[in-house]
Amino acid sequence: MPQDIFAKCYEFKDAEQVRESGLYPYFIPIEENRGSRVIMKGREVIMIGSNNYLGLSLDPRVQEAAKKAIERFGTSCSGSRLINGTFALHEELEHRLARFVGREAALCFTAGYLTNLGSISAILGRKDNILSDRYNHASIVDGIMLSIGLSGGTIKLHRYHHNNPEHLEKTLAGLPEEEPKLIVTDGVFSMEGDIVKLPQLRKVAEKYGARIYLDEAHALGVLGATGRGTEEHHGVSRCADLLMGTFSKSFGGIGGFVAGEPVVIDYIKHFSRPLIFTASMPPAMIGAVMATLEIIQKEPEHTHRLQHIAAFMIREFKALGFNVGVAETPIIPLVIGGIEKTFMFWKALFENGVYANPVVSPAVPPDRSMLRTSYMAIHTDSELDQVLSVCKTEGKKLGII
Ligand code: PMP
Repeated sequence: MPQDIFAKCYEFKDAEQVRESGLYPYFIPIEENRGSRVIMKGREVIMIGSNNYLGLSLDPRVQEAAKKAIERFGTSCSGSRLINGTFALHEELEHRLARFVGREAALCFTAGYLTNLGSISAILGRKDNILSDRYNHASIVDGIMLSIGLSGGTIKLHRYHHNNPEHLEKTLAGLPEEEPKLIVTDGVFSMEGDIVKLPQLRKVAEKYGARIYLDEAHALGVLGATGRGTEEHHGVSRCADLLMGTFSKSFGGIGGFVAGEPVVIDYIKHFSRPLIFTASMPPAMIGAVMATLEIIQKEPEHTHRLQHIAAFMIREFKALGFNVGVAETPIIPLVIGGIEKTFMFWKALFENGVYANPVVSPAVPPDRSMLRTSYMAIHTDSELDQVLSVCKTEGKKLGII
């Protein structure tokens, strides 16, 4: 008797059970987006779960730039970058991005996820070593998995302790000297909100002849006096050999890019399946991202406001007695522990006008379920006070603080 391939779907009851308990927190449609506030289930809530860090997705200048690009180039590029899908707009954006991050060349992908998938899998070849922080984003993990698959399982993955250059060094010391090595890390870790110890990583990398790939998804527009990310935050330059960013966060769009030496970028262009076998970033997004890039450079006050908010919220949450882990950016986890209490806290906040993201295993270790809160430059002081007040009241009721 053949087994039905859909059997697992019919047997999957977890989500339904949580829905029935009234605690299901996922896939809630946003009915209207007002920036720091959104309408969900017919009611207005303060949004502390968005990566629109600078609030630029609703900026009229950005929206106008997107409209203009559509008027000139249409809604789609209708093909791969390799063939008919490279517009002059892509190349202009790439030049501007390369300049922004202080590199000679850049290459855009259709999503940040695809940027990691496509850059990592293009660079890694048979018998290479990849050293990956245990807390790296899923798109990095999937990029490594794709590489391993494409290499017939010959690539060796070594996961080192989170943000721990000593453990990285220990791992590197155990590898054959002559084998090529790539260290891959988030700049700002997407769940814990901490910043990679990049200068120390660089020292270790140089000692062992390894290259560094840095994911700046949550760092560009967020860290540094001019929003240039982790390197600027640490007061160093060109620590990373390859640097990637996404447009879905500070840039208020969707898409991503990788930047580095021209020959390396050219190699990625010719060997990246997630670049070659999907249609390119659409004109509206290129127009929008060019506009946000200009705003980030001309108006650093948005980044400064965001940094001020991050420091304030971390201080206040700690004073209330929340466990914010090692947060040092606008990503501030409220670590709860168990899944059920996390969902209960999420619901209590939602019912009191605050939306945050519940994050549970496998996105975080099973005992580190959390509400991932994140802040935008457009949050007002009174909205932040309201968030703190609701978290205090509901956190006390549930025995979290
Ligand atoms: N890298 C990191 C660190 C991320 O957090 C994310 C998404 N949250 C991505 C890459 C993927 O980016 P995107 O959502 O823009 O595809």
